[in-house]
Amino acid sequence: MAREIESRLAIIGAGPAGLTLANLLQQRGVPTVVLDKFSRAQILGRARAGLLEHRTVELLERHGLAERLHAEGAVHHGCEFRSDGASFFTDYSALYDDTPHYVYPQQEVVADLLDAYEAAGGTVHYETRANRVTSLEHRPRVECENGLVVTADAVAGADGQHGAARASIPGESFTEYTMQHEFRWLTLLARTRPSAEWTVYAQHPRGFAGHLLRSDDVTRFHLQVPFEDSVEDWPDERIWHELRHRLGKPGWTLHEGPVFSKNMLEMKSSVLEPMQYGRLFLLGDAAHIITPSGGKGMNLAIADAAELDGVLAEFLDGGEEKALARYSARRLPDIWKAQEFSHALIHMMHTYPADRPDAAFRQRLQQSRLWQLRHSTAYARNFAESYIGPPLGWPFEPGEEPRTPRAGREQTPGGITAAP
Ligand SMILES: Cc1cc2nc3c(=O)[nH]c(=O)nc-3n(C[C@H](O)[C@H](O)[C@H](O)COP(=O)(O)OP(=O)(O)OC[C@H]3O[C@@H](n4cnc5c(N)ncnc54)[C@H](O)[C@@H]3O)c2cc1C
Repeated sequence: MAREIESRLAIIGAGPAGLTLANLLQQRGVPTVVLDKFSRAQILGRARAGLLEHRTVELLERHGLAERLHAEGAVHHGCEFRSDGASFFTDYSALYDDTPHYVYPQQEVVADLLDAYEAAGGTVHYETRANRVTSLEHRPRVECENGLVVTADAVAGADGQHGAARASIPGESFTEYTMQHEFRWLTLLARTRPSAEWTVYAQHPRGFAGHLLRSDDVTRFHLQVPFEDSVEDWPDERIWHELRHRLGKPGWTLHEGPVFSKNMLEMKSSVLEPMQYGRLFLLGDAAHIITPSGGKGMNLAIADAAELDGVLAEFLDGGEEKALARYSARRLPDIWKAQEFSHALIHMMHTYPADRPDAAFRQRLQQSRLWQLRHSTAYARNFAESYIGPPLGWPFEPGEEPRTPRAGREQTPGGITAAP
């Protein structure tokens, strides 16, 4: 039997985007309801991202949501690039106003957001899959598989790329820009301490390899693999052999341990324009997919939530219907900036299949990019700004403060050195 509830805002999806929005609105006293197809335990078990931009942490701090992040997360200032047996270290913080970058696993961000929301009285309907959103232009209704129907003044679709929200928008009312990249990753989590205190990106004739920190005893690795491979083609011995080979440099030891998560990742990018139809708004992966290269997805999802919170404040509190269209207009420059960066990083680090007629030319372009990153301060500054991410609230309106104060550190000269 159908159960009907009403709220000011219905949020589909209890990931970083949906839960950030839920907390911000709750703190302003706006009644919200969150729906997720998964159980609480399943939501907390989704280990994915780990790199947090400074603006993401600043936003969480401002809303009292970063206490555990500061206690347990790590602050990062640089990353290492390895190629052709050589390596160099890019101190991106030094290149960008001493702005730090953070490592704190996505499932911990989600746990903090969920705990805060529920502790303050917020309701999450677990194991409640949304099927469709109707009546988008007036007072939208979210119809769920278990019979629940939620009617609200607006709906936030934060249910990822395969969710119900984007599928409910008439196809002719948006344009989807997509790109399927020619590379594939085997991404894995291993129970082992990190082998360096920073992220390592290795460009190697056998393919890209990445070493990314997650915690004192868990490390994430990425390996570029042939398109036709499946997880079964990659037993642990093969993975460690390949990682030793691609990441190796003289005097460096790769710490190994049990692999407890392995997934094949297709590298897909997409952006929907606009990210709103009537009173249904798309956030995070529901509106745009970005490759994990550069660690932008969760940060964009949280930035979407912050922007939508501001827009909804005007609409829900003041009935300002005009404010609603501002959401897409304000978010898209930032989203495309991140897409451009992620795309450039992919093409700086991956190996092109040898049978491509232009493979050798492309590899030369790649070497030039790495050379410029190492030897051109202007090039490296641009990398640093994109990697750390723009300030909170960017892009600014005319007359707005161009920079937010940053929790910096002592200025270090230069920024590009031989790898320590
Ligand atoms: C291996 C990997 C590494 C990554 N590394 C980084 C990184 O370092 N930094 C970074 O910023 N990003 C990274 N990302 C990307 C990041 O994980 C995503 O961009 C982020 O999860 C997007 O958040 P979201 O809230 O939009 O969606 P999600 O996290 O996908 O949350 C969507 C929620 O909606 C729920 N849902 C889906 N359909 C329905 C439905 N019909 N009804 C109800 N609920 C539904 C799901 O259960 C889920 O809880 C990485 C991704 C991967 C896979």
